[in-house]
Amino acid sequence: MLCGDNGLPGRFLILDFASQKKLLEETTGLTLKRDVPLLGFTSLGIGGPAALFAVVDSSSTMGKLISVATDCGVEILILGGGTNLLVSDDGFDGMAVHARIFGVELSVDGDRVTVGAGVSVAGMVEDLIARGIGGLEFAAGLPGTVGGAVAGNAGCFGCTFGQKLVGATVVTGKGEIVEVDDPSWFGFEYRRSSLSARQAVVTSATFVVRPDDRFRLRREADEYLSTRRERHPAKGIMTAGSYFKNLEPSEPGGRRTAAGALLDQVGAKEMSVGDAAVFERHANIVINRKNATAQNVLELAGRMAARVKKKFDIVLEPEVRFVGRRG
Ligand SMILES: Cc1cc2nc3c(=O)[nH]c(=O)nc-3n(C[C@H](O)[C@H](O)[C@H](O)COP(=O)(O)OP(=O)(O)OC[C@H]3O[C@@H](n4cnc5c(N)ncnc54)[C@H](O)[C@@H]3O)c2cc1C
Repeated sequence: MLCGDNGLPGRFLILDFASQKKLLEETTGLTLKRDVPLLGFTSLGIGGPAALFAVVDSSSTMGKLISVATDCGVEILILGGGTNLLVSDDGFDGMAVHARIFGVELSVDGDRVTVGAGVSVAGMVEDLIARGIGGLEFAAGLPGTVGGAVAGNAGCFGCTFGQKLVGATVVTGKGEIVEVDDPSWFGFEYRRSSLSARQAVVTSATFVVRPDDRFRLRREADEYLSTRRERHPAKGIMTAGSYFKNLEPSEPGGRRTAAGALLDQVGAKEMSVGDAAVFERHANIVINRKNATAQNVLELAGRMAARVKKKFDIVLEPEVRFVGRRG
């Protein structure tokens, strides 16, 4: 069962922890680590240990792992770049699975590019620009992996991954490997897809691209990178990007109101709890100054949202995904 699902299928093998670990290892050939701190796997630098931890780099191993984990009732957290996650200080009771490259790194075929889910988005964009291939340059400098960007329908500068995806290889919640060629399968919405509800893992994704002038692409990407540098914390500052989702447009086809604009008006940039603080240049970005805990971040986010509710009667919804037990 993938993290977040509570519908128990009722066919679990009742095994103790050591037997579950042994069965998972025997079936997959992996060596699973125990009690691995997740703070090193998240850009916020926060998080207690995962009871089990695996690094998986092929669809077939992912399939076997998911199949046995489902049978044993072991909850799975797929970790991409960890740039959109807040992990509980108490850690995660299930198995964190670090999704690495998954076979293909990057292959171009006409107007299609297929990329392994574990590839960094920023690296993919640079590679495509160098080859004179356009279409994904909007994502220049976007932190995280291709799998995470598809799972969360990441977007910026007016474009999203869901608009560019034309196919994918997916491991289903039953551990089957499926080639998806209908993007509607993903049910893309603002900053979400149906992957987590389907308990599925994307192992590679195919996007539509076009030949383009590499110097023009470079200039466009450089503009995006420079906007990111102006608005976002510098490299090395621990953050998960925008904490809250932007608001639904008030009319169909309208623009979303930036959550940051509302947070700015309630003085969020001055706020902090422990070492969790709002970034001085962007009221919707929470940073970890050094030793912030998940509890600090949750408390700060709660206070930020409460101010917006009080002043505008608007409920902000987190974009950053919380994992594990709430204290
Ligand atoms: C400085 C900064 C700026 C950012 N700017 C933006 C921005 O402009 N736009 C934007 O949309 N986001 C932005 N983000 C947030 C983040 O970068 C994106 O959400 C990113 O796509 C997350 O990818 P990841 O690999 O880090 O996913 P993770 O954080 O590792 O995981 C996020 C979710 O995706 C799931 N997941 C990961 N890989 C897979 C997979 N292979 N299959 C199935 N599920 C998977 C995880 O289980 C989890 O639920 C920013 C973050 C930072 C730190």
